[in-house]
Amino acid sequence: MAFEGLSERLQSTIQKIKGKGKINEQDVKEMMREVRFALIEADVNLKVVKQFVKIVSERAVGQDVMKSLTPGQQVIKIVQDELTNLMGGEQSVVKFSQKPPTVIMMVGLQGAGKTTTTGKLANLLRKKYNKNPLLVAADVYRPAAVKQLETLGKQLSIPVFQKGTDVSPVEIAREAIAHAREEHLDVVIIDTAGRLHIDETLMQELKDIRALKEPDEVFLVVDAMTGQDAVNVAESFDDAVGITGVVLTKLDGDTRGGAALSIRTVTQKPIKFIGMGEKLDALEPFHPERMASRILG
Ligand code: GDP
Repeated sequence: MAFEGLSERLQSTIQKIKGKGKINEQDVKEMMREVRFALIEADVNLKVVKQFVKIVSERAVGQDVMKSLTPGQQVIKIVQDELTNLMGGEQSVVKFSQKPPTVIMMVGLQGAGKTTTTGKLANLLRKKYNKNPLLVAADVYRPAAVKQLETLGKQLSIPVFQKGTDVSPVEIAREAIAHAREEHLDVVIIDTAGRLHIDETLMQELKDIRALKEPDEVFLVVDAMTGQDAVNVAESFDDAVGITGVVLTKLDGDTRGGAALSIRTVTQKPIKFIGMGEKLDALEPFHPERMASRILG
């Protein structure tokens, strides 16, 4: 049982309720106070914390204690299991199309790490799934974004489709998909425009690209360091465009990653990958049980 990583506070609460055969309401209440602190410290959305504590409390009260555990450990185990369940679910990281090319749209706010993640994802799909991706520069508002993607493509030796900044993103996406078909490139990853704030024009443009050919995946890239804000961003993008999964970036930083739990609970959309650094191989599939331990601190 991996309890070593837990904070001192949780460890000491575990110690408090030793030697009982059944867990009563008072034990659970005390422990849940600490769990609540841990989650809030990890920047989990308050509504999510409340909901979570309620579910776990109901499950924990009256449980017989497993022989191998103390009652405190058992409550923590329930907390960890429930966190893992909530963040888990679907196993496949990418849904590939039966009729290539698979189309993946990358959406997100500026600075979240969208363009970098586009490159990282192409790299991962090539390495792990033997795919031949095409990167598409559809952020025409920031000339630097097109250049950035081209540089990434060069570093990775992965082709980049671009039409400069004078052609509409929808047209670029349309031509890119046709190009991929001709060249037998089986995954098209579209780097769409990011904005500093969520606005109507951005959402409309994403909807237009989406309407062109139903993408197999729409991945929202969010900065895990933005904590509470990440939930609002995820909700807005999901409501307006519809997302199929989330990539949480910058988890190599010191954030506890509460955003993973909040986003999953609020949008019901799975976290698919996590960004663990600036390097192009620093993208990993999401592991809910690891994130659960990290969130508990
Ligand atoms: P975009 O505006 O969303 O396209 O963001 P960029 O891809 O340009 O990334 C913004 C900054 O975040 C860059 O300096 C990236 O190197 C950095 N970045 C992206 N992902 C990660 C990550 O997982 N960890 C860290 N430490 N930095 C990242």
